[in-house]
Amino acid sequence: TAGKQDKDKGVNIQVVLRCRPLSAEEQRLTTPSVVSCNESRREVSVTQKNAINKHVDRTFTFDKVFGPKSKQKDVFDHAVVPLVNEVLEGYNCTIFAYGQTGTGKTYTMEGGGTKMQNDELPNDAGVIQRAVRRIFEILENQGTEYSMKVSFLELYNEEITDLLAPEEIKFTEEKTKKPIALMEDGKGGVFVRGLEEEIVGSAGEIYKILEKGSAKRKTAETLLNKQSSRSHSIFSITIHIKESTPEGEELIKCGKLNLVDLAGSENVSRSGAKEGRAREAGEINKSLLTLGRVINTLVEHSGHIPYRDSKLTRLLRDSLGGKTKTCIIATISPAIHCLEETISTLDYAHRAK
Ligand code: ADP
Ligand code: MG
Repeated sequence: TAGKQDKDKGVNIQVVLRCRPLSAEEQRLTTPSVVSCNESRREVSVTQKNAINKHVDRTFTFDKVFGPKSKQKDVFDHAVVPLVNEVLEGYNCTIFAYGQTGTGKTYTMEGGGTKMQNDELPNDAGVIQRAVRRIFEILENQGTEYSMKVSFLELYNEEITDLLAPEEIKFTEEKTKKPIALMEDGKGGVFVRGLEEEIVGSAGEIYKILEKGSAKRKTAETLLNKQSSRSHSIFSITIHIKESTPEGEELIKCGKLNLVDLAGSENVSRSGAKEGRAREAGEINKSLLTLGRVINTLVEHSGHIPYRDSKLTRLLRDSLGGKTKTCIIATISPAIHCLEETISTLDYAHRAK
């Protein structure tokens, strides 16, 4: 499509679409699929009935499309590798998983849960494990000196929880929970006061930390009656790489990769949310809506970027816009009963392009 040769707008935001397969249960119930993916044309079509019950197709184009048969490795190789390379060059990059609950955000980011055998990554390993493995492979091959640290936090109801904080002070009672605060650093950036940053020296260590943090996210859900579908999680890897110039001067490059599993994008107003729930829904939508606005503003160069309007965008401010690269992986279900949410995800993701 020659006419659509992307003009380089100087903004590095890729939007890719992934459609999960029908689940075993959906197949058993012979649930109709209303989504078709054309990977080579980078198109997704949904079939809808209009007012006079006629089938109409709506087609959306993305930077990449991964159909129901796509593998974890495909998504990583084609959507994520370029960002990992940038991080190793000393830039900040962010990968978002955006979509309705149950469409594969966590599967895409954290994988399907198969444990590692030897050093082989399982086929269902997600973007995080694959990124980690690649980063170590490259750094070891280059033989460069580096240091690496990771953090893992959850944002729920505009409140930050440290998923790597030591056991005793976690999730007991709300009142004993160590307050984690988002602070301005006086240089236009932010930092999270009290956030654990674990120094890591191997991929295996990071896999364990990820597992531990994920498990805590689930425990906290049960204890505090939260729903993970309503929280955002951010897994960040910061790398310092030592380099020497030909003149023998030492130089430290610092890159950061943020891997963000966003709250479910479903329209909470339709689920009969009230009071606390409604506030919660509002707060969650605030982060999602603000993220959408920030990305739109970046893409369109349309002036003031409203980073400050939500915690999520404040947290990611140094990794969105400017010289950073961002990839949004929008996830959808092919099932007919998800049609409405699927269309709203396609619209949101398409607007970010
Ligand atoms: P979300 O995080 O968006 O709520 P999940 O990642 O938990 O969704 O996925 C819901 C279910 O669908 C899980 O059982 C997951 O293993 C499965 N699933 C999601 N995407 C895929 C995929 N591309 N291939 C196979 N199974 C998938
Ligand atoms: Mg999830």
